[in-house]
Amino acid sequence: MQVMVVEDDAKIAQFLERGLEAEGHAVTVAVSAEDARRWYSALGPQLELVLLDLGLPGEDGIDLLRSLRAGGFAAPIIVVTARDDVRDKVTGLDAGANDYITKPFAFDELLARIRAVRRSAGQPAQTELVVGDLRLDLLTKVAQRGGRQIELAPREWVLLELFMRHPRQVLSRSQILSNVWSYSFEPGSNIVDVYIGYLRRKINLPGVVPLIQTVRGAGYRLLPPSAA
Ligand code: CA
Repeated sequence: MQVMVVEDDAKIAQFLERGLEAEGHAVTVAVSAEDARRWYSALGPQLELVLLDLGLPGEDGIDLLRSLRAGGFAAPIIVVTARDDVRDKVTGLDAGANDYITKPFAFDELLARIRAVRRSAGQPAQTELVVGDLRLDLLTKVAQRGGRQIELAPREWVLLELFMRHPRQVLSRSQILSNVWSYSFEPGSNIVDVYIGYLRRKINLPGVVPLIQTVRGAGYRLLPPSAA
């Protein structure tokens, strides 16, 4: 599932990101309401869950919540905040949150709440990503192209999953870096290009147009085989 964590506290954001990734989710971190809007328009309908802090620099989380709902965003939003006053909870739920959890919280409780809001939203658990003849089985962690199994290292898997969740979309190096490496590398690092190279060698077929295209000055994108 594609999750957006809106959280300005880097430690909490990293805690959520690592925990959710370990559960097999793709996580995008936004550090402000403005950042969240940018990601929201980039991710579009792929975005399946938002975890929203309320105390953000600049625009408050409640205003972001209201504007997401006013803009038609229908996927679950869980408020994750230090504000434990009943009035804040009522305001958050009335503004369109599906649930409200106060810090500090146990990660297991958050996971249970995520399962609960997804059940009530009627979202089936996604078990497979398919782009053309590329398939990722999210449960068994098996990658295939054209029926041939591909062995991927953990980072290569996360990188390919990111591309497959955003087919045709240009992903910048910094978007890829923050999704796959969680800012643990310097922005100037060439780690993204190195791993794109590894991935290309594994998923490309001889004599066929490569699936991951370089978009000069912008980043990379995954084109379905039919479009490549
Ligand atoms: Ca905060």
